[in-house]
Amino acid sequence: MERYILIGLRGTGKSTIGKRMAKILGIPFYDTDTLIEGRAGCTIPEIFLAIGEAGFREIEREMIASLPEGPAVIATGGGAVMDQKNAESLRKEAHIILLTADPEVLEARIMGGSRPPLTELSLSDEIRQISKIRMPIYRGLADICMDTGMVNADEAASSILTSQERDTEEGVKTLRRMSLDPDLIKTPLLFGITGNPVSHSKSPHLYNRLFSEYAIPGKYLFLPAGSAEEAITTMQALGAKGLSVTIPFKETMVSRIDEPDPDVTAIGALNTVVSCGGKLYGHNTDWIGIREPLQGHKGADALVVGAGGAAAAAVYALQSLDMNVIIANRTEERGRALARRFGCTSAPISSSRKVDLIINATPVGMKEGDGSPVPSELLRPGVTVFDLVYTPPMTRLLKNAHASGCTIIPGTELFIHQARAQFKLLTGIDPGLDRIREVLSS
Ligand code: NAP
Repeated sequence: MERYILIGLRGTGKSTIGKRMAKILGIPFYDTDTLIEGRAGCTIPEIFLAIGEAGFREIEREMIASLPEGPAVIATGGGAVMDQKNAESLRKEAHIILLTADPEVLEARIMGGSRPPLTELSLSDEIRQISKIRMPIYRGLADICMDTGMVNADEAASSILTSQERDTEEGVKTLRRMSLDPDLIKTPLLFGITGNPVSHSKSPHLYNRLFSEYAIPGKYLFLPAGSAEEAITTMQALGAKGLSVTIPFKETMVSRIDEPDPDVTAIGALNTVVSCGGKLYGHNTDWIGIREPLQGHKGADALVVGAGGAAAAAVYALQSLDMNVIIANRTEERGRALARRFGCTSAPISSSRKVDLIINATPVGMKEGDGSPVPSELLRPGVTVFDLVYTPPMTRLLKNAHASGCTIIPGTELFIHQARAQFKLLTGIDPGLDRIREVLSS
């Protein structure tokens, strides 16, 4: 597969390094921005002036869809892969190389250039702002990440072409120890779910199906571990690109990560780890899975039952929707501590006032014969009840809530929304909710 797609922010060296790579390999080089200028007969600043960024993106999409197939090195404009169609088409049958550099390096390289600014911010703030939005997607898409800050273009080109992110011997040993097929080490991109236990997880079925649909050269494995430390060691020995993390490592893994994102720091837990350029990045998509089904409930009065990791993600999600949150937990002191962390209130569930939204963030409802963690006085028409428990999908709480005329949201909705966000972080591709629902029901 001699097709290399270079992605990254403006100023990371995609064109210069891409040309060197193409020369070494003796294959064609394409720069999407140059091709666009050639086709439009004017410069990119002129295109922006005439038809704005949206118009430019449309031309860019057409250009990328019409790129010749086969061996090539392709340097893409910084925003190109933020478009889903572009990301999907560039991903096919190609190595994706992410070039990075520190913001100061980028600023020095870009200063005085003719490319139009994308925001009203200063150049330095624009680089930081755009980097925050784009880097998680770039890292997901990338097979190889290379910092071009301290190397010249020739060194960068040859090191990309000879780069080996994986110690095969160590990887094979690890696969054997885990009773997995040693040949898996030949798979370009390895992913997995870690935790203890993991065998119940639907993620391998879902993600492996999506990998084949999007022609992502990856495999997603069950990777149980005895500790967060062991999970990270396994990930590194396999040269794995990413992990989904489940109970009991969501909290303990945070301190093992090089760069937890601000959501992880606020919640105190992660469920996603992405490896890029020798660094581990931590994300939490559970809170997104709680927030997304509740988008229509901004400003509501909400009650969260529980005070563990899922409750912290719930409180964070609800506060992002401007809700007033009350926490009710069996161990009241733990409930008070969580309320202090997030600046909200706590109360015993028996004395909780009437609210518009109730979230169950306890495991009550998972076991057969479990009752409801919410007294029936709180369930009435107009109230929405979201049970984070997803096995079984219809818990005693949801049955009672439905019978009382409440709107109900099952825990499977959390899983589906968090999986969409997680797949995007792991691969840079957004599969959409409908596709996830279809695969999970098949
Ligand atoms: P956790 O950190 O262990 O916290 C469990 C919480 O539940 C604690 O506040 C605990 O209260 C409370 N609790 C446990 N047993 C109880 C009982 N019998 N009666 C009343 N309260 C009880 O667990 P977690 O990580 O937050 O996860 C909680 C649940 O969320 C999981 O069991 C899972 O069902 C659900 N979840 C679902 C998804 C999804 O994708 N749908 C994702 C994440 C989590 P104490 O403080 O008194 O012990």
